[in-house]
Amino acid sequence: MKQHWLKGIVAGAGLLTVAACGDADEAENNDTANVDKENHNNVENNTGEENTGDAGDGLYLTTTFSITADFVEQVLGDRGEVDYIVPIGEEPHEYEPVPSDFRNVSDSEMFITHGMNLEEWLEQIVENASETPITEISEGIDPIPLDEEGENPPPDPHAWLSPKNVDTYIDNITEMLIELDPDGEEEYEANAEAYLEEIDELDQFVEEQTADIPEEHRLIALSENAFKYFGEDYGFDTEGVWEINSHEEGTSGQISRLIDVLSEREVPGVFVETTVDSRYMETVADDADVEIKGELYTDAVGEEGSGQETYVDMMRHNAETIAEGLSE
Ligand SMILES: [Zn+2]
Repeated sequence: MKQHWLKGIVAGAGLLTVAACGDADEAENNDTANVDKENHNNVENNTGEENTGDAGDGLYLTTTFSITADFVEQVLGDRGEVDYIVPIGEEPHEYEPVPSDFRNVSDSEMFITHGMNLEEWLEQIVENASETPITEISEGIDPIPLDEEGENPPPDPHAWLSPKNVDTYIDNITEMLIELDPDGEEEYEANAEAYLEEIDELDQFVEEQTADIPEEHRLIALSENAFKYFGEDYGFDTEGVWEINSHEEGTSGQISRLIDVLSEREVPGVFVETTVDSRYMETVADDADVEIKGELYTDAVGEEGSGQETYVDMMRHNAETIAEGLSE
């Protein structure tokens, strides 16, 4: 049933695109205004204008979530526009695509996914936007498995939370863009190089911020155990109520397990995420008699006006929050 409904949507989107190509943008805006209001995220365009693939002569690309959209935008520069599907505040692990998502992907020159088990909802879109090529930008990152029972646990997708993995994403994005738009090669290379310098500075910043945290405090605990890559690269143990948000339960067993872990350590505090209900960690903090030391960004950049609208700013915030929370 669902399949048929989705195909209907895509067929409709195709017609709209054709109509828009042959006529003024106005026709398209009228037809699509309602679905666009539901869910439309455009990294570059904050004016509220509609963007359905009409990026002039530039590229139009769609990514799955806000963090990879920022990475792509850094390399793409002025040569096009990037949209992302999962709105800030919603779940990139589990997400229910809306009609405008199918249209945005269909209109894109490339659909850019993260991969590594992040987008469990992807099949729905891939099956229904088969004309658009798809690329996975985590390729080449050394995966850390989820801490789960079974012989081959799937990879933990949160590789972006270590700045030391960003060069792999940027290399993949740069290569993909040059293939799509060879005239932009020099610009893409220059943008990538400049951005990777910023990422180097970020890496230094994280090292410096976290260097003096005493050994016994080096545990990052939050609802979702998302900081494994960060922990491995900067010397922290990590814990969560659950391993990954798509398996989120917050059972009393999970909560008491984390409380037990915390009572064996001398950590001064735990953290909450910007995109997860904080009540689970409030219970943990109360029962383990530790403080909540602040909010960390994991699966999305900050909302407009937060000061953390980019990956670099969100990671600076994360490093500072962790350093302040665990230092004393
Ligand atoms: Zn997550």
